[in-house]
Amino acid sequence: MKLYNKTKYPDELLEAVLVEAGRAVGARTSKVIVKVTSAKPGYVHCRGIATKCDYVKRFFLDTRAYRKGTHKLKEGIVETDGGYLRLTVPYPKIPDWIKNSDIYPRWLEAHQAEPENIASLIFSVAAHEWRHIKQYQTRMFRDRFSVKQEQAKRHDNRAWEKDATRAASKAEKRNTNNKAEAITNLITWLEEQYE
Ligand SMILES: [Zn+2]
Repeated sequence: MKLYNKTKYPDELLEAVLVEAGRAVGARTSKVIVKVTSAKPGYVHCRGIATKCDYVKRFFLDTRAYRKGTHKLKEGIVETDGGYLRLTVPYPKIPDWIKNSDIYPRWLEAHQAEPENIASLIFSVAAHEWRHIKQYQTRMFRDRFSVKQEQAKRHDNRAWEKDATRAASKAEKRNTNNKAEAITNLITWLEEQYE
């Protein structure tokens, strides 16, 4: 996996969870570009998008290199395997103004912001998007879906969305040692951030 981690989550923890999510839905993960950003503090958003492509311009992955004036980097491309996965994960810390207020327990409950929920949320959103990558890798759009017919339907009713949702919920239920370990490590780290 070519991870571009723009968040405060440690690379190893994030990578372990994302690789497990990808494997669980049958995607080839090793050469896929994954860019992770985090939502604003206090927002418990997790969403993703998978784009079909063979490469991404380096400029979109490393804006800093551009700012330094490294023109060669700006012009470069990064190859990927089937698609490009972007993920927005919840901000790993809870801001003090929420933590110190009376509504904190209710806020935790309403947003389901407990570390266990956040870790499994990241896993399931990632699994859904990885399934789209798998669809690009195995050319399902050419072989299995009739794109025009499906695009007339509402977003969630399209064949590829149903396929991704089904695969993700299967992946959530499946228990392997690696998955449990990756998620537990992430939960432990999140708990430290919450203190
Ligand atoms: Zn989808």
